[in-house]
Amino acid sequence: MFREFDYDNKPIVEIVNEIISDAVKHDASDIHFDPYPDNLHVRIRIDGELIDYAIAPDSVKKNLITRVKIMAGMNITETRLPQDGAIKQNINGYDLDLRVSSLPIIDGEKVVIRILDYSMSSAGLENLGFSEDNYKKIDKIIRSPHGIILIAGATGSGKSTTVYAMLQKLNTPNRNVITVEDPVEMKIEGVNQVQTMSEIGLTFSNTLRSILRQDPDIIMIGEIRDDETARIAVRASITGHLVLSTIHTNNSLNTIERLTDMEVERYLLGAALTGIVSQRLCKRLCPHCRKLRNATDYEKIIFHEVLKQDIEQIYEPVGCPECIQGYKGRIAIHEVLIIDQEIRDAIIDNVTKDELRHLVYNRPELSASTLLKDGLQKVLSGYTTFEEILRIIDIDEDLGDEDENIKTVLTGHKKPSTSHSNLKTASNVVQEATIVSPNPTINNVPNQQIPVQPKINIQPANAVNSQNQKPAMQINPNQINNQVVAPKPVINQQPVKQQSAINNVGVKKDEVVAPRINDMKNQALNNIQNANPTQTVFVDSL
Ligand SMILES: [Zn+2]
Repeated sequence: MFREFDYDNKPIVEIVNEIISDAVKHDASDIHFDPYPDNLHVRIRIDGELIDYAIAPDSVKKNLITRVKIMAGMNITETRLPQDGAIKQNINGYDLDLRVSSLPIIDGEKVVIRILDYSMSSAGLENLGFSEDNYKKIDKIIRSPHGIILIAGATGSGKSTTVYAMLQKLNTPNRNVITVEDPVEMKIEGVNQVQTMSEIGLTFSNTLRSILRQDPDIIMIGEIRDDETARIAVRASITGHLVLSTIHTNNSLNTIERLTDMEVERYLLGAALTGIVSQRLCKRLCPHCRKLRNATDYEKIIFHEVLKQDIEQIYEPVGCPECIQGYKGRIAIHEVLIIDQEIRDAIIDNVTKDELRHLVYNRPELSASTLLKDGLQKVLSGYTTFEEILRIIDIDEDLGDEDENIKTVLTGHKKPSTSHSNLKTASNVVQEATIVSPNPTINNVPNQQIPVQPKINIQPANAVNSQNQKPAMQINPNQINNQVVAPKPVINQQPVKQQSAINNVGVKKDEVVAPRINDMKNQALNNIQNANPTQTVFVDSL
């Protein structure tokens, strides 16, 4: 993956084109240009993980950044303020639609190119990996003439892909479909798409009021992010419109709780809500090299508890020229909840969280199948691995008192950490996986493994403190070395410090200190970028 370019002789234009087309060829979602004091690091994000791609020398650092800014139509004389731009052109045979943003950091301008790819949305709702049961439920809820359908998930969980696929299915000539988005990510022929511009007062809520006077059948709201938008969405849906939107929550139960916390009349909300589709992305096993192995006792117990199935073997990643460490692409796991009368009544009556949880998850035939169940089914089908599902499940949030058995098995499985994780056998999961950490409490994180990069010894604590560290659960352990991606900068303080402590072990101090400090600066600024709502809103396609 790492590329050496002939920076002295090759024109900058060609180098930049090659970086972009190479990233597209590898199905990358983002390209990062990170300035360091003496050079420029280029990283690309593939399947959710940042990978080192190239290091450009100081002599071309500025020119590379300037070239990208020119392509994106940005002001190249302004280097002290953040800017946004876009690249729409054919590069080396690829028709590209790229979003570019710059952020001035201490050592120069950091530029990130986001590669928009809607091939998944275009492939249709049928091909988004919904289980047969979940697909039937979705097919039912999108046929409702009115109501609110919400797609829930964190940033980067593929919500936009699902919403666009639904819109494409609903976009027939006999319907007036209007969207209000920020930004409009994919243009759909026949759909009236409005791009908000808050600087001139064209906000979500203002636009929505105007949309309601345009005789709409279906309204898509990019994201429900404030009380006012939620109120208008509810009113629109109970006056006979079907409203689709996304919301930044973990699962169906969280979504209902979030909505009831907003200033929306409960009886209206209860009447309006039609369905909730929650989703998360995990890495997809490469079909070319995956191989079956015997399940561990721990895995057998989990499958037995959750799916009531006795299993002997499951797939593990291997690695081949077609993939990266046994994985290729990502697949969503879903939870689909149809809001029925019992849940409507519960919302209106303001029942306790446990009662609501029971209605959402534990009524045979009527409740949602949990993310954990859908994930484990996908493990059995060979789409992903047990480790991936455990990585993305939030034990505290996703499981309740009625799942006490499963919870005990998942959280109770602790093993004192004494040795380095053995990379070759890491996929033998939990029993074998041990985590090296300067802080023994971190090892309470159950059943996680760190399969690839030997430098990473820190667990992102997905179960520990998950109450207040929810975003951390979306972080892949492998990302930590490069960049801790989490919306709240506070969350990253601990891992960063620990990591630097660990990495300094055995290395001469002055060799390490300068780059480490710079890393930390980069991380802090990246976090600022990530924390900025205008940057993170709706960047979650694929
Ligand atoms: Zn492979």
